[in-house]
Amino acid sequence: MNNDVMNNESHDMDRESHSGAEPERQGTGEHSDHLTVRPGIQAPSSTASGTQRVSKRELSIDEHVEGVLSGDRIVLAKTITLIESLRAEHNRKALEVMERLLPHTGASIRIGITGVPGVGKSSFIEALGTRLTDNGHRIAVLAIDPSSSLSGGSILGDKTRMERLSTDSAAFIRPSPSAGSLGGVARKTREAMLVCEAAGFDVVFIETVGVGQSETMVHSMVDFFLLLMLAGAGDQLQGIKRGIMELADAIVISKADGDNVRASEHARSEYEIALKLLMKPAPDWSPPVLTCSAVTGDGIDEVWQTVQSFRKITTESAWLPRKRREQTLAWMHDTIRQSLHDRFHEDDAVSRLLPELEQRVAAGELPPLVAARRLLHAFFHEDISTL
Ligand code: GDP
Repeated sequence: MNNDVMNNESHDMDRESHSGAEPERQGTGEHSDHLTVRPGIQAPSSTASGTQRVSKRELSIDEHVEGVLSGDRIVLAKTITLIESLRAEHNRKALEVMERLLPHTGASIRIGITGVPGVGKSSFIEALGTRLTDNGHRIAVLAIDPSSSLSGGSILGDKTRMERLSTDSAAFIRPSPSAGSLGGVARKTREAMLVCEAAGFDVVFIETVGVGQSETMVHSMVDFFLLLMLAGAGDQLQGIKRGIMELADAIVISKADGDNVRASEHARSEYEIALKLLMKPAPDWSPPVLTCSAVTGDGIDEVWQTVQSFRKITTESAWLPRKRREQTLAWMHDTIRQSLHDRFHEDDAVSRLLPELEQRVAAGELPPLVAARRLLHAFFHEDISTL
C-alpha cells in the first residue's frame, strides 16, 4: 500500500473532509468552513498551498478508483467526501466509483462498537487499534452519530481523543457526516466502509452511540457487534435497551482497572446471567462478557481473540457469508424504499396536498387510508385502488 503519501498534509485532508467540506472548498483543518470560496472568485495565491490545489480540483472517476486502490489516503478522503455530498452530480459520480470499487471490497472484518457517551469507546478503539496497527493491520474508524445528523452537533466528537491512532499511518479516522437524515448518514457510512476496504484497510470499526436508532443501523452493516458497558450501572442497564443487548456478539465491561476491577467482575457475572436469557445472535455463537481497560491494556487482547474466533466459527459454518449477503440485499431494499420516499415527498402535487390532508386526518375528518390513496394517486397519476 502506498503509505508514503502519509504525511501531515494528508491528515489535514482527512480533517477537511471530516468537516463534510465539498471539494470546491478551500483550506484545511477545522476552520475550512470559514474559507469557503464562492464560485468564480479566485483564491488568493498566498493561501494556495499544494494541498489546497489538490483538494480544490475535482478528481475524475479513474483518479478516484485508481487512487483508492493504491491506498492513497488523500484520494480516499476525497472519495468519501464525494460519497457524502448531497449534490446530484456528485451522487452520480459516486455511484460509478462505487461500482468499480465493489469487486475490491469485502476483505475486512467489520466491527460495530456501541455504548453510552463516556463508556470509553474512543479509548477502547485507540487501545485495540494501536495494537492492531503495531501488528501490521490497517484499520479504519468510521462513526454514525445520531446527534450529528439531527442537529449538526456531535456526541462522538472529533476523534482527537484517539491521539496515537490519528497520527498513525496505518489508521484512517473519519467522523460521522453531519448532514442528512440518520438513514442517509448510515447509507453513506456503509459506502465509506466499502471504500476503506478497497483501499486495503483490513479492520473497520464503526462506532455509534448507544441511544436511538443508530445501533440497529450499525448492526445491519457489520460482522461483529460489540457493546461496551460500565460496571456499577447494571440496574438500569444504562439506558441500553434489552433489544440492543440482543444484538451484541460480545459485551465488554470497560474501565476495569484500579478500584473498579471488582465491580467490573461483578458486572460481568450479572451480564452473563442476563445474556443467557436472550436469544443468541448466531446459532453457533454464545456472546461472551469480557472486561478490559484501555488504560492498563488488560483484556484488550482477549477482545480481539474473541472477534477472531467469532469470525472463524461463523465463517466455517457459512453463517457469516450468509449474513453479509442478507445485509447487502436488505441494503438494496432500504435504498429503494428510501428513494421512493424521498421522491414522494419532493413531488409538487404531493407537497400541495399533504398539509391539508394531514390536518383532516389528524382532526378525524378523513380516514387515513383515503388520504393515503389520494396522495398516491397524485404521485403516480393513476388510481391506487389496492392499498
Ligand atoms: P466515549 O465517549 O465512549 O468515546 O468515551 P471516551 O473514550 O472518551 O472515555 C470517556 C472517559 O473515560 C475519558 O475521560 C477517558 O479517559 C475515561 N476512560 C476511558 N477508558 C478508560 C479506562 O479503561 N479506564 C479508566 N480508568 N478510564 C477510562
